[in-house]
Amino acid sequence: MTQQQMNIREALLEARTSIDPVDARILLGHALNASKEHLATHPDRLLTNDVAARFRALVGRRANGEPIAYLTGKREFYGRDFGVTPAVLIPRPETELLVDVALQRMPADQPCRVLDLGTGNGAIAITLACERPQAMVTAVDAAQAALDLASRNARRLIGEHWASRLTLLHGDWYRPVAGQRFHLIVANPPYVAEDDPHLDQGDLRFEPRAALTPGGDGLAALHEIIRGAGQHLRPGGWLLCEHGYDQGHPVRTLFQAAGFVNVYVKEDLARLPRVASGQFTQATGN
Ligand code: GLN
Repeated sequence: MTQQQMNIREALLEARTSIDPVDARILLGHALNASKEHLATHPDRLLTNDVAARFRALVGRRANGEPIAYLTGKREFYGRDFGVTPAVLIPRPETELLVDVALQRMPADQPCRVLDLGTGNGAIAITLACERPQAMVTAVDAAQAALDLASRNARRLIGEHWASRLTLLHGDWYRPVAGQRFHLIVANPPYVAEDDPHLDQGDLRFEPRAALTPGGDGLAALHEIIRGAGQHLRPGGWLLCEHGYDQGHPVRTLFQAAGFVNVYVKEDLARLPRVASGQFTQATGN
């Protein structure tokens, strides 16, 4: 008699003793390369020993706290599946609000130059390029591993000729775009305060620290981006920044101090201030 194999129902029951049942279904679907629907309609399907071993390893890692997105290597953002690795932040639903605000500022039928600072896996930049076919997007990141991942996401989601729509540049904030001006600058920079206890909880423990916090009170990267934007926006152009739920007031002040007008902070679905935007009015300035 060979070793007894478990079926889908038994595998899910076993996993539920250590992880959430929803997570268990996602991980089994991943290990089997099968959909949720397939799992639900084929509870008696037997797992090969290979699949069972792969599933148990994933369940163990999940029980240890590793984020689902890192275990499956993907996360949906704005209706598209993006590749994700531990080299980048996992895209969050609240960042879809930043995309919504950006799309309102981008004409549907005219070319528009957009800069995304700290692009990570490219979720914001690639979404904007997909949603606005006339947009030319430049995306910057200080981590080469992030840019490599963003280029793979771009090829899959924008298409083979992605590089004519999206330019990926390596470096710190504005350094790789010296002398260039854009209609729109967007950023979801690290903004969590260094002593925020959330950094030691949940998914955040496994995400790149440098993508989450700039240190100190969490405002340093936002400050640098807001201060430098005047050198890189066309007159009338907009800067949009995601920020922490408790940073609406200081971020608004930074926008105003940098000479932005029409400064506006938009709330997320939880009614927390989340995305600040402001318009740049002069051709020069800082
Ligand atoms: N919104 C994320 C969190 O608090 C942080 C993202 C960021 O720092 N840009 O989990």
